[in-house]
Amino acid sequence: MNILEKLLKLVKPSPAERAYCIYVKCNYCGEVLKTRIDLYNELSIRFGDQGKRDSYFCRKTIIGSHGCYKPIDVELTFDLSRKLVSREIQGGEFVSEETYKEFVKHHLSRI
Ligand SMILES: [Zn+2]
Repeated sequence: MNILEKLLKLVKPSPAERAYCIYVKCNYCGEVLKTRIDLYNELSIRFGDQGKRDSYFCRKTIIGSHGCYKPIDVELTFDLSRKLVSREIQGGEFVSEETYKEFVKHHLSRI
């Protein structure tokens, strides 16, 4: 690898483009959590019928730090251009970024 190639490797996409944020609410204690998925490091390829690249997926276990510590399991599926196509959750529910911000404002400021 020459110097130019090394320099080009340092020029990475900005964090906003390469990450996907999800917000989840724990079923047990109501804690709202945010987690970031690195679309270039955390996705696994899933192969279709003919061994062709079909989609990407990411499984994540999220554990809160202010509530009950019960794990919330999330599975996200992305198409080949890394756009979210489906999501599943166990132990919690997906909430909006606004819900997360409200939660942080009202709860974490008291801890
Ligand atoms: Zn909890």
